[in-house]
Parts: sequence; structure tokens; C-alpha cells
Amino acid sequence: MDNQLQIYNTLSRTKEIFSPLHPPRVGLYVCGPTVYGDPHLGHARPAITFDILFRYLTHLGYKVRYVRNITDVGHLENDADAGEDKIAKKARLEQLEPMEVVQYYLNRYHKAMDALNVLPPSIEPHASGHIIEQIGLVKEILDKGYAYESQGSVYFDVPKYNQDYKYGVLSGRNIEEMLSTTRELDGQEEKHNSVDFALWKKASPEHIMHWPSPWSEGFPGWHLECTAMSKKYLGEVFDIHGGGMDLIFPHHECEIAQSVASTGHEGVRYWMHNNMITINGQKMGKSLGNFITLEEFFTGNHPVLTQAYAPMTIRFFILQAHYRSTVDFSNEALQASEKGLARLMEAYKNIEKLKSIPIQETNDSSNDNDNHIKNIETGCYEAMNDDLNTPIVISYLFEATRIINSALAGEKILSEKQITDLKNLFETFLFDLMGIKDELKDGNASYESFAKAIDMLLDIRLQAKQNKDWATSDKIRNELTTLGFEIKDTKDGFEWKLTK
Ligand SMILES: [Zn+2]
Repeated sequence: MDNQLQIYNTLSRTKEIFSPLHPPRVGLYVCGPTVYGDPHLGHARPAITFDILFRYLTHLGYKVRYVRNITDVGHLENDADAGEDKIAKKARLEQLEPMEVVQYYLNRYHKAMDALNVLPPSIEPHASGHIIEQIGLVKEILDKGYAYESQGSVYFDVPKYNQDYKYGVLSGRNIEEMLSTTRELDGQEEKHNSVDFALWKKASPEHIMHWPSPWSEGFPGWHLECTAMSKKYLGEVFDIHGGGMDLIFPHHECEIAQSVASTGHEGVRYWMHNNMITINGQKMGKSLGNFITLEEFFTGNHPVLTQAYAPMTIRFFILQAHYRSTVDFSNEALQASEKGLARLMEAYKNIEKLKSIPIQETNDSSNDNDNHIKNIETGCYEAMNDDLNTPIVISYLFEATRIINSALAGEKILSEKQITDLKNLFETFLFDLMGIKDELKDGNASYESFAKAIDMLLDIRLQAKQNKDWATSDKIRNELTTLGFEIKDTKDGFEWKLTK
């Protein structure tokens, strides 16, 4: 395979070699959350998918401007321009300012993303902070003749646009079919066609979030913000636009129409979409009782969960599937991921120990080891270049783990360079690119002292054992076990890990 990054472009439905418009700069826009509720698994997948892309592009030497927006206005309960604004509704129910709702859930979103080790984007623009740009865009589309004003609202004229361009290029939807199957929704008589979508909505008297505009006191349509903000921060044409597959229609299709209608050409060069998540084979939904927030995963506090799962277990589990495949969450699958990740982390820690194993004279297998480790590294890069194939990268890391374990068992002898190469392999692929972190160590500066204190206790136990002071040695072992430590006696002394 050609050693260049290829990504699957939803627009062409093929894998394409990635070649940015203005190298070394890359413009990346990803649809962020509508902040009116706690972040859940549905938020974790796109965030992690595009975090991998962001990390890998940066690793390849690109200077990435990563824009991920915050939707804090205009996203109605019904995606087809009807119902109450999601944030305004929450504010009404909880008797808060809409911006209090936004700030509260945004803080919680950031906290969850941080726990998942998702890097913050370069710019995180709010829709409500870009009303002027959005009004400007509505004017441009009106001037080009692809929108009309109706009773204070402005709608995008889809059939008119479809005469000059093609509506449905991303989703493959056919406008004639849509016209014959969509029924008129109540309260939308002001639209000329059922397929038209709102660019600006006149606010009803009870609607608390509204701004002045040439057409009415109102608010922007949901699709408008991404077109306006991507253009502002990344330019009229930029490299990559990402999001979940559920956004392909109508959201991204409408974004394309808005962009083409206002500028006369496409604005996005590569469209990338991550697939969805199911729970025990079912779609996640509030009414199905399987709607699990990230915090509930982290604490285990949900009837569907048999235990708590560390953020890194969730992250690793998501990466064990390719981003364009579906992922089905179950306790069994998560527990398997937890064990798998623990094996990798253990192998990484054991690399250090390999250095203390005396290296015997050069042996015939040295070249084989060199080739094996080199092949693993090449394989990891090929997998990343093949549309970010993280499950393959992970399987290579397990192969490296087998090398480490057999060296540890004395079945293989590794040179100093081979040990360093293995260490670099884990550091590059598991930590830097997959974004896995040692949760015990990270964010806990006292971890080193903590580990030393346990080592000291176990040294005292070892001493006690040698002195045949069984009472002391058993007491230390039993009490540490009660606290959740797993202690293993080895030929050189002991090993321990915290299992909870
Ligand atoms: Zn968007």
C-alpha cells in the first residue's frame, strides 16, 4: 500500500489520498454538541474519532486548525424546523437563563472529554456568538435567489436550488421522492415546499432567545451556524468536515446547499462520518431505558451496568472498532476491553524491566527480532494511513506485547535498541496517537510517592518472610488485598497492582 494517509470521503464514497489545500496547514471542522443535557456515549464517539484524526495529522507534521462548535441556539426538538428550541426548553423547565444551561452542560462536556483524554479543539465557537455572521449568510443566500422571506422567517428554497445545483449529493436523497413522501408538518404553512428548511425563524412571543434581524426578532436555523462559522475560521473552502453519520441528513446536506448557494461552489473537500453506537444491540434512547451518560459509565451508577468503567476503557473500546463500523456496547465487551488494555499497560511497564535482564552474547534471533519490531511499526503506520484503522493498530500492539512477554519469560533475548524501539512503539501509538493515558499516574502527582510507599511495605513483608515472621508478612498481604491490591510473589521479589 502507498504510505500516504487515505481517508474515506462520504461525498465520493471512496477512500481518497488526503492532500490539504494549503499544506502544511489543515482546516478541520467537526459538529460539536448541543449543550442541553449530560454528555453520553453518542458524544464520546465523534469526539474520540476526530481526536485521533487531529492527533495523527499533527503527528504527520501538519498544522491543524481544529474547529468544533457549540450549538447553543436554534436546534429545535424536531429537526425539521418545528418544536421548541432544546436549550430554551431546558431553561424554561429549570427556570434558568438559557446561557446558564449552556455553561452548565458545556462544563460537564469538557470534564467528560478531558477524562476521555480528548484534546481540546483550536477554536470552540458558539452559535450564539456568531449571529451577525449568520445574518450575513442569510442575506447572501437571499441575494442569490435561493431563499425567500415568509411571515418574518426566511427559508431555503430547495427545489429552486436543485434546478441549478444538485440537492442530495451527500446523502444520496432524491428531491422528487422527498417531495412525494414528506407530508406537510403542522404550523409550517409558511414554507413554500415541505423540503425547504429554515435559515431564520421569527421568534414566537414565549421564545426567550432572539435577536434583531432585517426580517424579524428571531433566531437562526440550526444548519446555518456551521456554514457561517466554518467559513469565518477556515475559509470559503477548507479540508475536512466531520461528524456523526446521523448528521449527514438533513444537517450536512443543508450545510452543503447553504455554502454552494452563497458562494457558487462546494466548501468542503473531504466529508468524514463516524458510525453510531448501540447498547446491547439496541439504539440508545431515553425511552428505551438504555440511555447511559458518560458519568454513569465512569461511576457504574446505572441499572444496565454491572460495574464502573474507567474513561480509558471506554476510549479503548471505541478504538477497537473502525470508526465507520457500528459499535455495540455490552458489559461483557467492555470487560474484555478493560482486560485487553490492562495487558497492554502491563507490557509497557514491563519494558523497563527488560533492561535489567542481562544480555547474553549476540544470538541468531537478533535479526529476526529487528525485522519483527520494524514490521509492527510499519504495520501500525499503514493501518493509520488506511482511513485511521485503529483496531489494526491495536492488534499490532498486542503482537508487540507478546514479544515483551516472551522476553520477560526468558524465551527471547532483546538488544537494548530493540527494547527502546518497543518502548517508542507504545509511546507513539498507544499514548500519543490512540490517546491512552495511565489513569492512575495522570493528574496525580503523588502517584510516584504512593507507589514507593507500597513498594516499601512489600519490602518489609519480604524481610519478614525471610525472618519467618509469618504474622507480619500475612498481615501486610491481607490488608493490602482488602484494599484492592493484587500481590504476586516472583523470583526477584514481588509485583503488585491496584485492581479497583
Ligand atoms: Zn454542524
